[in-house]
Amino acid sequence: MSGEIKRRGLMLVLSSPSGAGKTTLSRMLLASDGGITMSISATTRAKRPNEVEAQDYFFMTPQQFECSAVAGDFLEHAMVFEHRYGTPKTPVVEALRVGRDVLFDIDWQGTQQLKEKMRDDLVSIFVLPPSHDELERRLKTRAQDSAEVVAKRMAKAADESSHWPEYDYVIVNRDLRGAEAKVRAILEAERARRTRLIGVGEFVATLTK
Ligand code: 5GP
Repeated sequence: MSGEIKRRGLMLVLSSPSGAGKTTLSRMLLASDGGITMSISATTRAKRPNEVEAQDYFFMTPQQFECSAVAGDFLEHAMVFEHRYGTPKTPVVEALRVGRDVLFDIDWQGTQQLKEKMRDDLVSIFVLPPSHDELERRLKTRAQDSAEVVAKRMAKAADESSHWPEYDYVIVNRDLRGAEAKVRAILEAERARRTRLIGVGEFVATLTK
């Protein structure tokens, strides 16, 4: 229809060292904003007791994952903590086309791949924990993984945190409400970015004719 401004969807990536609160932040954003949907990744890691197939992840065998990777079904894929993770391509491409935004909880390797392939659609945010002690506390209280896994993740957190310069925005998660407000502000601003808008010229023409 002439005179109507439409928009291509955007890809909002939240990355952080585990324990920075990114999963809770994602849930809050999804609950408060009807215009964004979560990208559900595929993984070869074992399902945790509270997780649901096709809701948290598509759980795959290494063979299934490899087949999908070879077939080009993933927008990006990477090895994280000894398991493979990948973003199914089709739902994302379709969402962006119809103007829906997609939220990604992926690591820095995946973000780099999306940046190479789809820079104009990508908005990336790096979430940091407020302190070393708080990060350790959060990783311990989560208690979904064994002590060995927690120790491994803590050791990796420093390495993961070093990737902050590769992101568009950095948020320190001191309190969830404050962090969510920042993510929402970024999302709103990015939705109005001129390069994402379709039909502005036609709309402006209707204003002045
Ligand atoms: P978890 O196993 O705790 O759910 O996730 C471990 C890590 O894998 C997190 O840092 C998460 O962001 C990352 N991850 C989850 N899905 C994907 C994905 O599809 N691609 C990439 N590159 N990383 C992912």
